[in-house]
Amino acid sequence: MINFPRKLTVGIQRFLERKLMELKRNEKELKATKEREGDVDDQVEHFENQVKANFIQKQVVQIRKALTRLRLGKYGICENCGQMIDTDRLAINPEATICMKCAQEDEK
Ligand SMILES: [Zn+2]
Repeated sequence: MINFPRKLTVGIQRFLERKLMELKRNEKELKATKEREGDVDDQVEHFENQVKANFIQKQVVQIRKALTRLRLGKYGICENCGQMIDTDRLAINPEATICMKCAQEDEK
């Protein structure tokens, strides 16, 4: 098992925590918009906000998962097959908790 150097994981952790905070802020703003609009019956906008909220929620869950794996010292290991996740993939997508191969399987 390859462990990421502590210096690197601390950087990733900070990055993910910042991203999490930003998402929380977006979520709050979205909720505030919803409340401001009150009972404006705009179906399209309502749907769009719902899609946005779902997307944010998904990202929040994924980042939390990655942070948990960081804490457990399992960061960078695919939670599905146990193989190392490609570092190129992690560079682009630091919250990834499954490898490229499993992600592709998932989409099928
Ligand atoms: Zn995998």
